[in-house]
Amino acid sequence: MKNKITLITGGSRGIGRATALTLAAKGHTLCINYRNQQAHAEEVVDRIQHSGGKAIALQADIAEEQQVMALFRQIDRDLGPLTGLVNNAGILKQQATIEQLDAQRIAAIFATNVGGSFLCAREAVKRMALRHGGQGGAIVNVSSAASRLGAPHEYIDYAASKGAIDTLTIGLSLEVAAQGIRVNAVRPGLIYTDMHADGGEPGRVDRVKENLPMKRGGQPEEVAEAIAWLLSEEASYVTGNFIDLAGGK
Ligand code: NAD
Repeated sequence: MKNKITLITGGSRGIGRATALTLAAKGHTLCINYRNQQAHAEEVVDRIQHSGGKAIALQADIAEEQQVMALFRQIDRDLGPLTGLVNNAGILKQQATIEQLDAQRIAAIFATNVGGSFLCAREAVKRMALRHGGQGGAIVNVSSAASRLGAPHEYIDYAASKGAIDTLTIGLSLEVAAQGIRVNAVRPGLIYTDMHADGGEPGRVDRVKENLPMKRGGQPEEVAEAIAWLLSEEASYVTGNFIDLAGGK
């Protein structure tokens, strides 16, 4: 597979942005999806183009089925046959206990973190599967250490959504293995990104880093390298697997 064409959802900042820059340096042609941070997404595209790479930015809310389908059709037209998907977009809400959760919050988290990943995976499989005339491909889901740890008293809804991503990774990897498509996941621990501010605690990583075996948070680039490896030919016999990037926790 010479021409790698890869979609990164939520690629305007954080882990998605670092993954875009890392994959561009490794020769991928990229679609940087964003929901509302157009200027940030275009800055990522500019950086890639200035380094001689190829990238476009496309808006879509991945929780919305019609928008996801339009996003993939636009990639077909602008870039050609998709070979890689990074299901990165995800949301976290303010810290809450079980008594404080409500249906609207739970639905919103699951609509993006789980529903969005399913919809993008479906559209990617339609294009990559050998039975549809595709050339195969690779999908990397961005799960979380929270899927293993549960995030009690803080984000059990978010953690449960990432548990669903782990199960999606296992089930889909088996469903499409014979179609030339590999499906794996990364499970980051505490990574320095703006997501923690959305969760109401910008300084969260520094507050809890002493509890980690390695005594530090992770950088988005450290996650990006693992995603890039899972998408690469070096990982050609790896599917249904998880890479934990959580400093030993
Ligand atoms: P981030 O908030 O910086 O990035 C998430 C991106 O997803 C943002 O650009 C946001 O606009 C986008 N997004 C959210 N909802 C969307 C939607 N409906 N449609 C399209 N885009 C949408 O956070 P991050 O830390 O870079 O997170 C990236 C992924 O890594 C997420 O799935 C997150 O759950 C996961 N993760 C992060 C950490 C961490 O410590 N930062 C740890 C474990 C897992």
